[in-house]
Amino acid sequence: MKDSNFLKEHNAKSLWHPMAHPADSLANPPTIVTGARGVSITDVDGHEVVDAVGGLWNVNLGFSCQPVKDAIAAQLDVLPYYSTFRGTTNDQVIQLAEELKDFFAPDGLSRAFFTSGGSDSVETALRLARQYHKIRGQEGRTKFLSLKKGYHGTHMGGASVNGNANFRTQYEPLLPGCHHIPAPYTYRNPFNESDPERLAQLCLQALEDEIAFQGAGTIAAFIMEPILGAGGVIPPHESFMPGVRQICSKHGILLIADEVITAFGRTGSWTGSRHWGVQPDLMCTAKAITNGYFPFGAVMIADGVAEVFESDESGKAAIGHGYTYSGHPVGAAAALACLAETKRLNVPENAAARGAELHEGLLALKDKYGLIGDVRGGHGLMCALELVGDHVSKTPIDKKTIGMVQEVAYQSGAMVRVSGPNIILSPPLVLEAADVSTILSALDAGLAAAS
Ligand code: PMP
Repeated sequence: MKDSNFLKEHNAKSLWHPMAHPADSLANPPTIVTGARGVSITDVDGHEVVDAVGGLWNVNLGFSCQPVKDAIAAQLDVLPYYSTFRGTTNDQVIQLAEELKDFFAPDGLSRAFFTSGGSDSVETALRLARQYHKIRGQEGRTKFLSLKKGYHGTHMGGASVNGNANFRTQYEPLLPGCHHIPAPYTYRNPFNESDPERLAQLCLQALEDEIAFQGAGTIAAFIMEPILGAGGVIPPHESFMPGVRQICSKHGILLIADEVITAFGRTGSWTGSRHWGVQPDLMCTAKAITNGYFPFGAVMIADGVAEVFESDESGKAAIGHGYTYSGHPVGAAAALACLAETKRLNVPENAAARGAELHEGLLALKDKYGLIGDVRGGHGLMCALELVGDHVSKTPIDKKTIGMVQEVAYQSGAMVRVSGPNIILSPPLVLEAADVSTILSALDAGLAAAS
């Protein structure tokens, strides 16, 4: 392997990174990860740390999940690729669709449309939602509603429903007819409401108001993450998603659950929708479906939506959408192995237990450090610390200080992710109690250094 300096220099000269300024790579070289095992990663300099990012919310079963590795290798040998466009399919994807049907039965979802990742899944769900209404003769239902602070990937459709200006401004004009309502974000919200339940009601009222303003007959779907992830881990009050479900049903609007992060155990339940006792009309999945080892995703479709497509005789239900890698046999084989391991290990149970320990430890850090404005978590292994310059004004922390917390935490044993003023924690779901302690003591060191 080339040495560390060579790699850093050539990284800066030769490639651009997602979500980074291309001119920043030399001054602030990214960590060059060269190996991983269990829940830890190793960098080019041989430093090993617990990966509290879990890859990118996707390596739920850790980096040493042998059954998934074996399934990929075996499938590469037998059938490395074939398309599932009309006219061909493959044995792996059929088996996977059957397994997913069982897995998602409690969510009321019984059909799968396969994709190559989360953004593809969002794009697919948005398109299917419009098509659903057209098949039913409701041509005017084309708009989408979503939450401010929501993240739905990077395709033009996803960017249009994203609720963070960072992912939108430089790419405008985006899709017309996409409107956003306030998120149930207790720490900062336009209502100055700090009670989660009352805030949930205010946000639901904002949804009703927006629907009335736009006209229900113009809206195709509302898309939301059951717990907002990239926007800073924002769990709503338990009444929020059921309330959204009720409002959508009342107005004939489809509910799309974007579970790219939350499906397969992350919240401590098997899916985020199930966590809140809600059945969506469409569900976007990706990431942990293959444990991050292969780019893959699936949109799951509710019985009622499937029925509209499958009983169509006009031809409008023909799907003019799909990816070269929809139903990739290697991805499907990986997903089958992953699902079996996820169930065998009962990962949501461990996510809930370790998540509670992590959340408790973060709350203790809040008592110790004035830098921490808000601690969010308490639903499986997705937590965030929101750092502030000042508690009263809630001034967001500056980049240099939060960068120092991250750097010292890394030197002290844990990779954590910085997103704006937030430190986001989304470790593998097979984490052990000792790993939770490592993450907490690394953060403790980082916060001490920056305080
Ligand atoms: N939706 C959500 C909720 C996500 O968190 C992400 C990625 N973090 C996406 C969609 C996009 O997924 P991908 O990066 O695989 O395209």
